[in-house]
Amino acid sequence: MRMILLSIHSSPLGPAGARDTGGMSTYLRGLSGALGQAGHRIDIFTRAVDPAEEVIQEIYPNVRLIHLDDGLGLLDKIELYPHCPTIAAALERFCRREGKKYQIIFSHYWLSGCVGRILQQHWNIPHLIMFHTLGRAKNEACPGEHEPDIRIEEEEALARGSDRIIVAAQPEKEKLLGYYGLSPAKVSVIPGGIDLHLFQTLDREEAREQVGLGRQKIILAVGRIEPVKGFDLLIRAVGMLPMEEKFKLVIVGGDDHSRSRIVRLKETAAELGITGKVIFKGLIDHDQLLLYYNAADVTVMASHYESFGLVALESIACGTPVIAGPVGIIPELLTPGRRNSLGCLVIERTPAAWAAAIGQALLCPEPIKQADIDMKLIPYKWPAIAAQVAAECRTLTVLI
Ligand code: UDP
Repeated sequence: MRMILLSIHSSPLGPAGARDTGGMSTYLRGLSGALGQAGHRIDIFTRAVDPAEEVIQEIYPNVRLIHLDDGLGLLDKIELYPHCPTIAAALERFCRREGKKYQIIFSHYWLSGCVGRILQQHWNIPHLIMFHTLGRAKNEACPGEHEPDIRIEEEEALARGSDRIIVAAQPEKEKLLGYYGLSPAKVSVIPGGIDLHLFQTLDREEAREQVGLGRQKIILAVGRIEPVKGFDLLIRAVGMLPMEEKFKLVIVGGDDHSRSRIVRLKETAAELGITGKVIFKGLIDHDQLLLYYNAADVTVMASHYESFGLVALESIACGTPVIAGPVGIIPELLTPGRRNSLGCLVIERTPAAWAAAIGQALLCPEPIKQADIDMKLIPYKWPAIAAQVAAECRTLTVLI
């Protein structure tokens, strides 16, 4: 199949964990690599923001990343919205020059969806969309988030107007059906994947040495520094742990744009008297993250909302149990209130409930056995996920 993947607002090669680049970039790299490996021809379109960048990069076999020069220069995510027709026109010009035709458009995030919708109308080929997060769900889950009305309106229009929506977990499908009264057949659940060559178990002591975290116990949290990720709740929970215990909370993620949020989280830690216990590591290269997961005794994902939650899979792949709420893929991995070998699901949103689960995990830290990792994660390997996406695309190209 010849497929376009649209990733307009951020490049899949951008640093994950920054303001605009997170799980979607990890997803696009994993998915496109596996689709290319399976013989599909994939062109990923993003915007050229750095003039030094090559226009066309072959990032995996059969996968090209194309940096479109739309003449708009550096713009913030939301500032891109009125320019979607200009971006679509630049893309069409590029395709005309190359004499290239595609069978399907797969848009990622609502802004790409707005560009994909124009291409769908001009080319009359199927348009598949994955929102990654829904603005309305984000606003509802977390009072600190204020996603713009236009995003919410466009997500509704795209949900209705696209040919198919892929979501990575069942709760996301339920949200879409509930919000917009869509037919269940329109929304397919295909999970995100994991690269088990990249994320694997290492010796914990050696990993700790390598990241310079010494001998204390480690509680790890990984993600973009946004209110929806629940770092405030996590810090408050950590503030309730017995202080004589030797542990550190290590928070990975965030770039220059997150500075004011990190300052606020540090203030919370200071109010709770745990400044010395909380370390903000900033962005860590994706291929170095396994050292942190392996160094940790437990990974905590206190997010108020996740459309999938790749961090949980990455941590499990490194043998580190996860504590998380009932968001995204978590209900398929963990059981409420009961610790299983993969970790523990916490329903309540109180610091005390999270402190109890974290305290328990620190008391007797138990890495996940390799047999459990293999059994749980094999269905999430990228080739298996890509095969499901390809099957979905094939159905659409036949139907439409
Ligand atoms: N990540 C990273 N470096 C960091 C922080 C995060 O590579 O410093 C990656 C992380 O490994 C994961 C992604 O960013 O693949 C975050 O994905 P998730 O689904 O948890 O959250 P999202 O960003 O989609 O909200």
